[in-house]
Amino acid sequence: MGRLDGKVAIISGGARGFGATESRLFAREGAKVVIADILDGLGKQVEAEIAEMGGEATFVHLDVTSEAQWDNAVQTAVNAYGKLNILVNNAGIALQGRVEDTTEEEWDRVLDVNAKGVFLGTKAVIPGMKEVGGGSIVNISSIAGLVGSQLTAYSASKGAVRLLTKSTAIQYAEEKIRCNSVHPGIMITDMTTFMREDPEVNSRSLARIPMGHYGTVEDVANGVLFLASDESAYMTGSELVIDGGITAQ
Ligand code: NAD
Repeated sequence: MGRLDGKVAIISGGARGFGATESRLFAREGAKVVIADILDGLGKQVEAEIAEMGGEATFVHLDVTSEAQWDNAVQTAVNAYGKLNILVNNAGIALQGRVEDTTEEEWDRVLDVNAKGVFLGTKAVIPGMKEVGGGSIVNISSIAGLVGSQLTAYSASKGAVRLLTKSTAIQYAEEKIRCNSVHPGIMITDMTTFMREDPEVNSRSLARIPMGHYGTVEDVANGVLFLASDESAYMTGSELVIDGGITAQ
């Protein structure tokens, strides 16, 4: 028995990093997965890996800032698998920079992908989830959505995701659509390479983590799986922090 048997999931940003690991894990747990990303080559690779291990997955090109492309992704899920139960709003981009160093264009780009992208995804899946009597939306925020950081636009976007999650949760609780946010700390993916490869930034970053090491993609994917599955049936509007203790200090 898989923990997601019979479920259909869309994972935005599913071509690499957390999203690719979640796609493979969800498929192993019995879900049919729509991998949605702007990286077509990598996305199709994840699709093929899942097929090789006997799972079911379909790649669809999706730029999360486009409402039309979100509608297409939802339609792809319904055409391929008949319904939709789970959305993981995982796609995101990071940008360093204090307030004075952040341009208007950079602010707009980060807010577009990280905040508007989550809003559009949520809006696109709600009608289909209502039709099947409920669903689970998991929004990937960050510890930068809980406390301030040097990443001005990124923190603002992830803070927006945190509260959009709670608004979605209370607005659709009666329809049995749950919505929770996940707040990873510093995890080993392409997004944090620049940080881990700079010896000075690396030692400063490690010193902030009570557990003394970075987290893995699996650490995040396991939390996302729990929130996506019926095991978290009574959870909505909540924040799952996966950060080795950084924000406990
Ligand atoms: P990543 O860069 O490896 O993966 C991000 C994925 O999102 C990529 O596949 C990318 O192509 C996709 N993407 C970017 N813009 C997109 C767009 N406009 N439309 C569709 N897809 C798009 O990064 P990751 O570390 O796996 O990050 C995944 C999520 O987790 C992001 O939202 C990120 O902000 C968040 N996060 C990461 C960390 C970390 O330490 N790595 C910590 C906290 C939160």
